[in-house]
Parts: sequence; structure tokens; C-alpha cells
Amino acid sequence: MNNPLIPTLTPEERTLAIITHPHPTLRHKSKPIKRVDAQLKDFVSQMFDLMYESKGVGLAANQVNLPLQLFVINTTGKRGEGEELAFINPVISRPKSSEEGEEGCLSLPGVYGPVTRPLEIDFQAYNLKGELVKIRTSGYFARVLQHEFDHLQGVMFFDRMSDPNRSEIIDLIEEFEDDYESRQQTGDAADAEHVRQRIAKFETIYC
Ligand code: ZN
Repeated sequence: MNNPLIPTLTPEERTLAIITHPHPTLRHKSKPIKRVDAQLKDFVSQMFDLMYESKGVGLAANQVNLPLQLFVINTTGKRGEGEELAFINPVISRPKSSEEGEEGCLSLPGVYGPVTRPLEIDFQAYNLKGELVKIRTSGYFARVLQHEFDHLQGVMFFDRMSDPNRSEIIDLIEEFEDDYESRQQTGDAADAEHVRQRIAKFETIYC
């Protein structure tokens, strides 16, 4: 029997899709996950599918409208190659040095720009088995971890770009904003109240 205190997700809520800037869930600071169930594992599997379809190397839960501290990574971007990693409740610490690198984002398809980030970090998170994973890492993998970690804090990669570099892509970013606004007017994009209710429901179930 279902626990009557835990809301039931609708079929629509169980089917994930990538949301694009400036959807409000991308700016929501996700809460830690306290419950891993079969549905959450299914969400992770859908996130890998969406990531590969979109030719990405990482995807954070709030990019698929889930306000939870979870992201998936495969730095090869190819199914069957490299390693599929799913991280829950990640923490980053002890940043060292810094490096500039080109970044893009599945929530801003086609937009790229240089972002300066720490080169080396400590990273820890739980995997789907509930095991604590702790690593010291650097370079591209550290960059991908930081990009996805940022999403869970409501931070987009262009927030971290220098003003001159951001000004180079501001027209493209604004195109996404204009498009979202017109889709809201036609009812094709969710209004703020609907997004708020959805976030509250997922937090009730998982946080
Ligand atoms: Zn991204």
C-alpha cells in the first residue's frame, strides 16, 4: 500500500525532458535528497538517455525540472563508452589553481563561452548504492563536476564568464529569454506558480 503522506507522481511528472534557460527551476537551489527509490533510479536512467540524445557529457537534475541534488556524467558523451556516473548530494572543497576552458550547456543549446574555474578540487557525493565517493580530481573531469554542481545551486555557466566574454553571447542568451516569454504567453511554458507547486511536490517526496 502507498504511504498516504507521500504524493503520487502523475505519468507526465514521471517523464523527463530537458528545460532551457530561463526556466525558473534552473535558478532553484536544490535540496539534498533523503530518499532513493525505484522512481529516482528511473529518473537517472532517463537523464542518461536525454544526455546522450543531446550529445552532452553531464546533466543536472534541475535541467530536467527535478529540484534535487543529483547529476549524471559520462565524459565521453557516448553510451557504452567511458563510465556512467550518478552523484547525489555532492560537495566540492579545497579548490586549487585555476584554468580557463570552453563550456556549453544542454539548457542553452548552441551557446558556448570560456569559463575560468579552479583546476583541482576535492569532490564527494553519494552514488545510487548509497556509498560515499571521495576523490581529488583536476582538469576536464573537475570542470564537468563543477559545471553540474553549479546547476544544483541555480548557477549557469555564463554567470561565471567575464563581462566582456558574456557580452559576446548575450544576444544568443536573450533569444532564449524572448522565446521562453512568448511560449509563456501561448501557455506552452509553465507559469511561475505551476513551477513552484511542482518543486514543492518533488521536495515533499525526496527531500
Ligand atoms: Zn549545464
